[in-house]
Amino acid sequence: MKPLFSSLKKITPGTDLQLYEDHSILDIFLDSRNVPAHRNSLFFAISGAHHDGHQFIETLYQEGVRNFVVEKKINLERIPQANVFLADSSISVLQALSGKKRQYFEGKIIAITGSNGKTITKEWLGQLMDPFFAVYRSPRSFNSQIGVPLSLWPLSDYQDYGIIEAGISKVGEMERLQETIRPDIGIFTNIGTAHDEGFSSLEEKAIQKAQLFKGSTTIIYCKDYPEIAHALHSLPDIINKNLIGWSFEDNSAGYYVETEKNKQGIAIRVPFREKFHIFDVPFTDSASLENIVHCLFLLLNEGIPTKLIQNSLRELKPVAMRLEVKQAIHQTYLVDDSYNNDLVGLDTAIQFFRQQKQFKNRVIILSDMLESGLEDHLLYHEVADKIHRESLDLFIGVGKSISAQNEFFPEKSIFFDTTEDLILYLRDNPLRESVVLIKGARSFHFENIVKELELKIHGTVLEINLNAITHNLNFYRAKLKPRVKTMAMVKAFAYGSGSHEIANWLQYQKVDYLAVAYADEGVTLRRHGIYLPIMVMNPGLLSFELLAQYDLEPELYSIEIFQEYANFIRGKGLPSKVHIKLDTGMHRLGFEQHEMTQLFELLRNNPLIKVASIFSHLVGSDEAIHNGFSAKQAFAFKKMSEELINVLNYRPILHLLNSPGISRFPDFQFDMVRLGVGLHGVDATQLHQDRLLSVSVLKTVISQVKNVKQGETIGYSRKGVAEKNIKIATIAIGYADGFDRKFSNGVGKVSIKGQLAAVIGNVSMDMCMVDITDIDCKAGDEVIIFGKSPTLLELAKSIDTIPYEILTNVSDRVKRVFYSE
Ligand SMILES: *Cc1c(COP(=O)(O)O)cnc(C)c1O
Repeated sequence: MKPLFSSLKKITPGTDLQLYEDHSILDIFLDSRNVPAHRNSLFFAISGAHHDGHQFIETLYQEGVRNFVVEKKINLERIPQANVFLADSSISVLQALSGKKRQYFEGKIIAITGSNGKTITKEWLGQLMDPFFAVYRSPRSFNSQIGVPLSLWPLSDYQDYGIIEAGISKVGEMERLQETIRPDIGIFTNIGTAHDEGFSSLEEKAIQKAQLFKGSTTIIYCKDYPEIAHALHSLPDIINKNLIGWSFEDNSAGYYVETEKNKQGIAIRVPFREKFHIFDVPFTDSASLENIVHCLFLLLNEGIPTKLIQNSLRELKPVAMRLEVKQAIHQTYLVDDSYNNDLVGLDTAIQFFRQQKQFKNRVIILSDMLESGLEDHLLYHEVADKIHRESLDLFIGVGKSISAQNEFFPEKSIFFDTTEDLILYLRDNPLRESVVLIKGARSFHFENIVKELELKIHGTVLEINLNAITHNLNFYRAKLKPRVKTMAMVKAFAYGSGSHEIANWLQYQKVDYLAVAYADEGVTLRRHGIYLPIMVMNPGLLSFELLAQYDLEPELYSIEIFQEYANFIRGKGLPSKVHIKLDTGMHRLGFEQHEMTQLFELLRNNPLIKVASIFSHLVGSDEAIHNGFSAKQAFAFKKMSEELINVLNYRPILHLLNSPGISRFPDFQFDMVRLGVGLHGVDATQLHQDRLLSVSVLKTVISQVKNVKQGETIGYSRKGVAEKNIKIATIAIGYADGFDRKFSNGVGKVSIKGQLAAVIGNVSMDMCMVDITDIDCKAGDEVIIFGKSPTLLELAKSIDTIPYEILTNVSDRVKRVFYSE
């Protein structure tokens, strides 16, 4: 079904503001950053508390988009050839449109809800059904009010099943999702305390979620959750539904599932239609078992023979829950999605790939797609269309089917029959300075390409969760008054997390300004495609030329540096933006009150100097004992900046607050705030620590395990002494990686297999030893230095420092891995 724009008014309340030329709608999107811009795409403008989609309409129009749904009147003069539909809520239009698409779908819809395991259950179910049916499954965790309609959109006639995930966060939401999805079959995975804020009790949450299945004919659930059983039994017409309420616990239940451990994993005995069906699964944890039992009942219910299910189970793959960007050789970055390859997944991967704007060359490596349900020429035509839109520097296809359809692909394409052929080719023709999306069906073993290209430094990595950064950014943004801007502090490699990688992500999240400490940090950002304005806090005399060349804006903090810079600018004869730093009590950099007259004079005499902003810095914004002093600083800042504005005759941006300041002083927000450590999940005030997400995990591996006899010593200077017979592990991190020598001799603790292991002896340059007497582990096992436990804060406290220092000390040789869930 390809609805016409003009059909919108038939399916949902609203009016055509302008109808220029009717188009059928092929692509829909709400995110102005990720636009397939053509005349058949439809943009839904949504105005949120901190973001207004309407403001991007003109730009999108210039890029070629012709269809818009809006929720407020907009100026049509600049978009004369656009179709514009006005409704109370763009999201309702989206839901209605997708609901229509659903109505026309002739296959069956399976919907999955519950507190945990929705995505895994969906992915596994998809994998298990793939050999038997053409199955569509919604991309990653698209399960919200917006995600669900977006995920229904790609449904098409050739599919037998669509598997859709649905999640809610408050009362009433599920009814709307139900109207959009109208599932034939439901799976209610479980109920727990995840995302609890919007509900008064577990019972209420279960009842709300159960609404998804009011029109379903079959519902699969685990009756060991009494709230779920109760909620489902309160649905109307429940006696006429095929209810499969299975249990691990109640042996009198009709669907009592028994499990038995064996060598390979677990054998599951499932009763169904008067028979017992036995399956072997390769894992033993209870969460995975629960997910798989849901899938087994569904497959049995759909009539698939036990033997075939068992075959399919053998092929079950781990679910890659995230897309990663990995540093590779020759200044190349890999977007690693080597686990699966289907059309919808391709869209998601390409979207993430598209965000990596900081690299010169763009390459996609793609294998054959298996079991798409489409004929090859149709399938690869569609794939090639997507590839064409990305204007790549190189496309590489691997596999016989994709190679046979090479005519559809762009000119700069090469094809290989096998992954091995490609690897040999890459050894002689390496990719350089590129970002490479690697996406392949499991049987192509693209992980071997990743292995070949990945930087093989030692086993210590800092993993950075980009979504957590977004979460933290939004947490602070929500505290800002309307129109207050955000400057992200990305000095010192964005607090040790990377530089252009983080800046690129923040640029994509639409922060307003960036700040670095030194000019060369700014240059690196510019060279990697960062176009946001960048303030440089320590512009040295020698760096002025670089500033000008790379459009970087210096902080001017003294009469001397002002004069030097003004001379330089006069020589250039071009206007330049600067930031004036006022010293209100920190006594680090900045103009003091007694220098103001001289500063006024300089500003009057140097009209080429344009003051972009005026700012100051609080010395104790994180601690209540300094509240009086903070207020004094804010007052001085206000007074001094007002004097400056009088002289300037225009109003620069005023800013004072850092992360802890944002948490504690809503009245001092002025026009902009400077967000630093908060982005990295650290609340220096400790007021909201539980609302932030931790961003980075530093991990390494065990190099060797040894038994040490009582009385022997460990490491340099014989500082570590075995008080009894103990077992130790040598781990691949030392002070040169940023693991401080102060962690020696029991002060530092790391986590192995979820248990804490204390450092024993002195930390060496590249390694140290930890006591693992009570931990069952071996060489090659993972070691967490900081992350969930121990946390960054705990680690910092143990050596009496602050998280900032631990983060920025993680040395350059530690590989950074960025990922997005
Ligand atoms: C680093 C820095 C910030 C950010 O501080 P956080 O406490 O990390 O939020 C703000 N302003 C200035 C001037 C800085 O140097």
